Amino acid sequence: MKTPFVTKNQIEEITKTIPTPFNIYDEKGIRENARAVNKAFSWNKGFKEYFAVKANPNPFLLKILQEEGCGVDCASYVELALSDELGFKKDDIMFSSNDTPASEFKYADNLGVIVNLDDFTHIDFYEKSVGHFPKKMCCRFNPGGVYELSNGIMDNPGDSKYGMTKEQIFEAYTILKSKGVEEFGIHAFLVSNTVTNDYYPTLARTLFELIVELKEKTGIAISFVNLSGGVGIAYRPDQKANDIAVIGEGVHKVFDEILVPAGLGDVAILTEMGRFMTGPFGGLVTTAIHEKHTYKEYIGVDACAVDLMRPAVYGSYHHITVLGKENAPEDHVYDVTGSLCENCDKFAVDRQLPKIDMGDILFIHDTGAHGYSMGYNYNGKLKSAEVLLKEDGSFKLIRRPETIKDYLATFDNLGIVDGILK
Ligand SMILES: *Cc1c(COP(=O)(O)O)cnc(C)c1O
Repeated sequence: MKTPFVTKNQIEEITKTIPTPFNIYDEKGIRENARAVNKAFSWNKGFKEYFAVKANPNPFLLKILQEEGCGVDCASYVELALSDELGFKKDDIMFSSNDTPASEFKYADNLGVIVNLDDFTHIDFYEKSVGHFPKKMCCRFNPGGVYELSNGIMDNPGDSKYGMTKEQIFEAYTILKSKGVEEFGIHAFLVSNTVTNDYYPTLARTLFELIVELKEKTGIAISFVNLSGGVGIAYRPDQKANDIAVIGEGVHKVFDEILVPAGLGDVAILTEMGRFMTGPFGGLVTTAIHEKHTYKEYIGVDACAVDLMRPAVYGSYHHITVLGKENAPEDHVYDVTGSLCENCDKFAVDRQLPKIDMGDILFIHDTGAHGYSMGYNYNGKLKSAEVLLKEDGSFKLIRRPETIKDYLATFDNLGIVDGILK
């Protein structure tokens, strides 16, 4: 059974001042999990987790992760600027972008962050855009084909737009070295949301074997291996959550087997997890405001896909708890819908739930990563608030809900909607 990290009483206290819908985050859960990640990889001297900012760019959460020793992984100008403003040091910022505009390479170079090149042609593009190369660079690898793990989970890197082929990446390091780059990293992101302790160790083997071969063939020694993201979470109640301690030990074993004998025992392991760091520690809190009985049974809530797009975009499962009815029989079948004029705006389809009454508060689980951050303003829907449940059980508004002024802010001084903006 999946249980929310907040109680009904706590939510009722919060809704006295902050109306639903809102996303709430669990500070205690985020901190404990970050500590478990750092402990799992403490055998590696250079280990660092670079939190994928796109998963949840709320500055208050980024600060919490910073306090727990994490860096950040950015993919855009805004993510870089935000991270810089929050005081992340240049070596604590990874720029893993793709299809990158010249201005963003220039900005990353100004900040002095670690640039992760997605493509072979980016070497030329970088040189033309920036004029020189940094001392330290990373390249993104894509082995192509189908990538399969022992439990059958697989993805299709051959179809993915990211990374360089093996031939390209060998040549890339050789060229970069000739242009003055002194320190190299390798990065790969092959499978998303893996719910298996095997993904990182399997990926580590692929990358470790590659860098041993690179060293033998070119003499170039890689100094850091970035395992990127992809460690998943148990969205469904019947899934077994990943155990980060087992994952860390699995990578350790492959490290000792492949890198240590090759004289590469100083290689630093980096990660760029997003989902695993904050996903389970967020929930979307929403109130049932309509019930509809037609060809199906519908419950309409006050949140919509603008607050959480994953079900609409990928058909993703997000568990739902009806607060106060945790132990009631799940003897009703509902589609739980938002208010967008799009039929995909459903948080759940044919979901077995307890009987829902109007005014019931629903907790939609696992919205801490790729939740609020994916949202948009379709249908003129304004984005809702974000709340932090602090370690002592008190709460804090960490982003107010949007207003019509925010929505119209880009029309300022154009004389069309001045009445509203005034
Ligand atoms: C999205 C992304 C991540 C984080 O992925 P998760 O699935 O959230 O762990 C890490 N690195 C890069 C380059 C990404 O694009």
